[in-house]
Amino acid sequence: SEEVIRRSEKLGLIGQLAAGVAHEIRNPLTTLHGFVQLMKQKSTLSPAHMDIMMSELDRINFIVSEFLVLSKPQVSRFTPTDLTGIVGDLLLFLDSQANMSNVQFVTAFPEEPVPKLICEPNQLKQVFLNILKNAMEAMEDGGVIQIEIVHRPNESFIVKVTDEGCGIAPEELRRLGEPFFTKKVTGNGLGLMVSQQIIANHRGTITFHSELGRGTCVEVCLPLGGL
Ligand code: ADP
Ligand code: MG
Repeated sequence: SEEVIRRSEKLGLIGQLAAGVAHEIRNPLTTLHGFVQLMKQKSTLSPAHMDIMMSELDRINFIVSEFLVLSKPQVSRFTPTDLTGIVGDLLLFLDSQANMSNVQFVTAFPEEPVPKLICEPNQLKQVFLNILKNAMEAMEDGGVIQIEIVHRPNESFIVKVTDEGCGIAPEELRRLGEPFFTKKVTGNGLGLMVSQQIIANHRGTITFHSELGRGTCVEVCLPLGGL
């Protein structure tokens, strides 16, 4: 209702997060509770029921670990890292999955040697993994994903991921990064929130350009030094 909306607006981001987490955790917990009750009554439980219990546990675990990323201390783990290496490794990691979904990666990486970027490599991996997965998930019939890395000397790195997927409607574009905003049946709507937080911790920016039915371009800008 309207009242609930107004009140949740007053909660602020942290309050919204807490409310969302509570809601998201309650659903799998309810399922688990039901099955455990069943286990008490009957001594036999089908493997299918066990599978549901396991996947609900995984779900809780995933949601909680996404939030832990936000609360972890950042600064101490910043190290000089080869950004093209991070992105290249991810593409290798995703290659078989891409092949199966008829997706082709096309890369344009800097040809000259580039300096290392002071960053938290594991966190940036998580950002680019989510961006690439979103791009793949947006292309049901496959297509090309272009990954471009540009080095601006003494300034920044730009990483652009362009897909030929379903695109994003303008009213949804504004909501990207909102906790639990998802259009996917099996999505959780946490990926972009966590990604935005990580990019902000690197003093960078993340920008989305999209046209419905055409595709999306996600542009991450990471400043060199200056942290
Ligand atoms: P999830 O992937 O779990 O849905 P995200 O935070 O990663 O959560 O993304 C939120 C939503 O943003 C997605 O559900 C999707 O609707 C939209 N989105 C993100 N990236 C793209 C993309 N490349 N193409 C189309 N829609 C996208
Ligand atoms: Mg995602």
